[in-house]
Amino acid sequence: MQIYRNFIGGAWHKSTETLQVIDPSDGTTVARIARGTVADISAAVAAAQSALDGEWGLLSAAERGRLLTRLSQLIRRDSEKLARLESQDVGKPLHQGRADASACARYFEFYGGAADKVHGDTIPYEEGFTVFSQWEPHGVTGHIIPWNYPMQIIGRSVGPALAMGNACVVKPAEDASLTALALARLVEEAGFPAGALNVVTGLGEEAGAALTEHPGIGHVSFTGSPEVGTLVQQAAAINRIPVTLELGGKSPHLVFADADLDIAAAAVVSAIVQNCGQTCAAGSRVLIEDAVYGDFTANLSARFSTLQAGPSDRNLDLGPLINAQQLARVKKYIDIAERDRLPIIGSGTIAPNAPEGGYYTKPILIGDVPPDHVLAQEEVFGPVLVAIRVRDEADALRVANGTPYGLVSGIWTKDIARAMRLSRKLRSGQVLINNYGAGGGIELPFGGMKGSGHGREKGFAALYGFASLKTVAVKHG
Ligand code: NAD
Repeated sequence: MQIYRNFIGGAWHKSTETLQVIDPSDGTTVARIARGTVADISAAVAAAQSALDGEWGLLSAAERGRLLTRLSQLIRRDSEKLARLESQDVGKPLHQGRADASACARYFEFYGGAADKVHGDTIPYEEGFTVFSQWEPHGVTGHIIPWNYPMQIIGRSVGPALAMGNACVVKPAEDASLTALALARLVEEAGFPAGALNVVTGLGEEAGAALTEHPGIGHVSFTGSPEVGTLVQQAAAINRIPVTLELGGKSPHLVFADADLDIAAAAVVSAIVQNCGQTCAAGSRVLIEDAVYGDFTANLSARFSTLQAGPSDRNLDLGPLINAQQLARVKKYIDIAERDRLPIIGSGTIAPNAPEGGYYTKPILIGDVPPDHVLAQEEVFGPVLVAIRVRDEADALRVANGTPYGLVSGIWTKDIARAMRLSRKLRSGQVLINNYGAGGGIELPFGGMKGSGHGREKGFAALYGFASLKTVAVKHG
């Protein structure tokens, strides 16, 4: 059985203790990863700091961009291997693993191209002065990665950080670390100076906490649960460093009677099925105008009946959930729906012969959910879609904004004036009109309002998040 090591300062370090890597499709142990310690994190932060003080810190923006571009080419070269690794490790159908590998390559391509295009301003000031501003890296940046989209989230977080000249320490999730380690191998092959990127695997409360609390980091970026997000921000407050938090959502689709209902229904189903509903931007509430509630839920229900969940390598609509704890969490919400007699009006199936030990759950559609019910308020993080009846535009807006979250909203209507009105009033970081997901959207700033977090990732906005603006005033007479 393969035992993976940590990547620190350009070398692969063996660890005394290891953790199991479980295949969620059948519950078997397929490899072991290092259980990183406080000392490993300290070594990684020190290695990153020496990269900044040495070769990495001396590279021009164009040279950093070239390395990132080279990395994106290597990811494309190995994309099938990476896709299969991600698919097995997370339990996602292979087509989704392929999409993730492709998105990961795009992140490094985008940020490779952007590295030498970020510049400051010259600022008009008093006679006898020249004043300019420039963007500088924070220094060592910490990246706490979740298990749902490891490759994509490493690309979106580490890509802009490296482009701006930071040196990174990555702590992948204990449930899905393998592609982070595979990417570290490609960073090595691409010829990045030692220490520019370090990967330490391990438990959140050990290696993760050690990284977020480390006084040597200048920024921390976190994607995951709101509870841990709070701990990360508390640690950042003690060190007085900036933090980017992406904490998921309860993202609504607003479906109006004049929408192309068939196109909307296909997108709504795909947005909850993707990655078995374990997606921060999953459209997990569908708010349907009363006049088409029956037709639209019937359309959704017909689509749910064709969905199948099964092992990742069978490449069905859904894979398993990530682990037993996640399965119990989803089951808890389904039990609540049954207890409160909420009707299950659509359901997929678990594929025949799906291995006993896998963490499978059927995708379900729950009808007539009151907007303040726990199922309409809390993030299930599973393939559970709740349908909510709304009277009109004003009601849809009130319900859409009526959760603690604000990550993404989808609007489905042919009335562009209504769509534009709503887009201004919806409290979410992205508003998608007559589409959902915006094709992956590496270029499109992404992040939360309210409880979904703060800071922006993706696009050019992320580059400014990973840098500090310095103003230089020269008095020359
Ligand atoms: P989590 O927040 O516990 O883990 C995310 C990452 O944080 C992992 O790398 C983990 O090791 C690390 N971590 C955990 N405790 C830490 C600590 N004290 N200090 C620093 N880092 C720490 O998420 P989870 O347990 O994997 O999943 C629980 C729930 O979180 C899910 O059911 C889901 O609702 C939510 N979640 C959301 C997203 C998202 O994309 N928004 C992603 C994953 C999980």
